[in-house]
Amino acid sequence: MDPTLGPPHGLSSVKYDLIIIGGGPGGCMAARTAARDGLKVLLVEKNNEAGRVTRFCSRSLRLGAGGFSSNAVATDENLKRISVTIEVGSQHHRIHLQNMPSDAVIDYRGELNPVFNETFVSPSGHSFSRFHSSRDIEAFVIDKEQLLQGLLAEASAAACEIRAGTRCQSIQDTPDGVSVVLKSDTGEAVLSARRAIIADGSFSPLIEQLGFNNGRSAGPGRLKFMSFVIDRVTFPFPELRRVRLCVPSLHPGIVNLGPWPPGMFQLSAAASVDADISLPEVLNKFLTNSPFSEIFAGSTVVAKQACNMDRRPAIRDAARGNVICVGDNAAFAETAIKGALGCGFTAARCSKEAIERGADGANALYNDYWQHAFNYFSREYNRRVAGVRDFTQALQDAETDILFEWISRHGVSGLPNDIIIENRHQLEQELPEICAKLLPRDRDSVGRQPAH
Ligand SMILES: Cc1cc2nc3c(=O)[nH]c(=O)nc-3n(C[C@H](O)[C@H](O)[C@H](O)COP(=O)(O)OP(=O)(O)OC[C@H]3O[C@@H](n4cnc5c(N)ncnc54)[C@H](O)[C@@H]3O)c2cc1C
Repeated sequence: MDPTLGPPHGLSSVKYDLIIIGGGPGGCMAARTAARDGLKVLLVEKNNEAGRVTRFCSRSLRLGAGGFSSNAVATDENLKRISVTIEVGSQHHRIHLQNMPSDAVIDYRGELNPVFNETFVSPSGHSFSRFHSSRDIEAFVIDKEQLLQGLLAEASAAACEIRAGTRCQSIQDTPDGVSVVLKSDTGEAVLSARRAIIADGSFSPLIEQLGFNNGRSAGPGRLKFMSFVIDRVTFPFPELRRVRLCVPSLHPGIVNLGPWPPGMFQLSAAASVDADISLPEVLNKFLTNSPFSEIFAGSTVVAKQACNMDRRPAIRDAARGNVICVGDNAAFAETAIKGALGCGFTAARCSKEAIERGADGANALYNDYWQHAFNYFSREYNRRVAGVRDFTQALQDAETDILFEWISRHGVSGLPNDIIIENRHQLEQELPEICAKLLPRDRDSVGRQPAH
């Protein structure tokens, strides 16, 4: 940073260059990047221990550009801005954010659990997989707390001040800088800075306060999630896959089974918050009284976790004035871990740029990144993923078996919606009744589901 730069006019009490609110992947990555770039940074985290994860997350770090609901749409090219590779080492591993500056790399010292494929299974056991080959690693289930703690240690080593147990109550953005009201056990304080990064996750009251949500519609509504952590499972498929159990009569959605470090598994399900569905009951049924109960014979549920996810359309301009929104607070549903890391890195660089050269250009840089790193803004993408009804809601168990048997017999792989769209003409001829249910004429009311 240019040491000759004084505080902005009219804000002589500015102590920090940058205040970062929230210590998830977005905030921690922003803190480390900005501190290493020489900014004077404060990170505040409301949890008493920074680097602790309290919101449920399946912790799967997808490699490459893949991740959201479609493997096939051309605009997924844009996801390359948040493409990830992992260099596996003996002492530690290196997570590289591709297509970004070479210092967008993270030393990670936690466990890596490779996931080779995702397998969708029907009530009678017909199955197909997301990827044609199960030889390549698709994702790693990681220890998210280790990831965050590593970033925080590096931020701290670069002189970032970290205050845990400190909640940001409110924020004001003025032409001269930002001021935040912070609350902790020891009382309240008002601090100011040239810029702020808000990385406080979903349901953010702070971005609401600043007007970022003005004009943002409610979207297809909220989802509720429930996850059981279980100690052992007899996998019906080769180990280290993620399995999607599909029994529409037990749950009009997919029930996911996958690894949960260290050495455990998680069984999870989602539903609209408005649906009269008890997710604990659904998961208990899958454990004890479903076509898949044998998989869980002798397993114990060791923990249960729940959370909600908002599916509001993404904010188009996530950088405005002296504030940049990072991660889930501005996203459609979620940015995922790798997306939050990418946003955090870019927001830190743009904050430095704003301090040195002015906010307008720097905010425009961030907004360009935000709009192209994810495909929330692509009409083609949204049209495609909205074009098919969710098979778990449209089909009965027997129809699901017929569809999965067809997919398996034809040796097709992919996500269900991609498969249905790509093979629609053949499906229309060979399974006309099922096809009519999956591809109704009026498709406007069909929403997109995040895929975990
Ligand atoms: C059910 C579910 C499963 C998921 N599974 C995966 C997965 O397998 N892989 C994947 O990549 N992603 C997954 N995600 C998404 C992933 O968890 C998020 O996209 C990612 O954590 C977003 O990071 P973030 O930094 O934006 O926010 P968060 O991780 O939510 O972090 C926000 C932080 O801000 C703190 N905070 C909030 N308000 C304040 C305040 N006022 N003051 C101070 N601190 C505050 C919070 O305590 C928290 O530490 C999943 C999400 C859900 C809901």
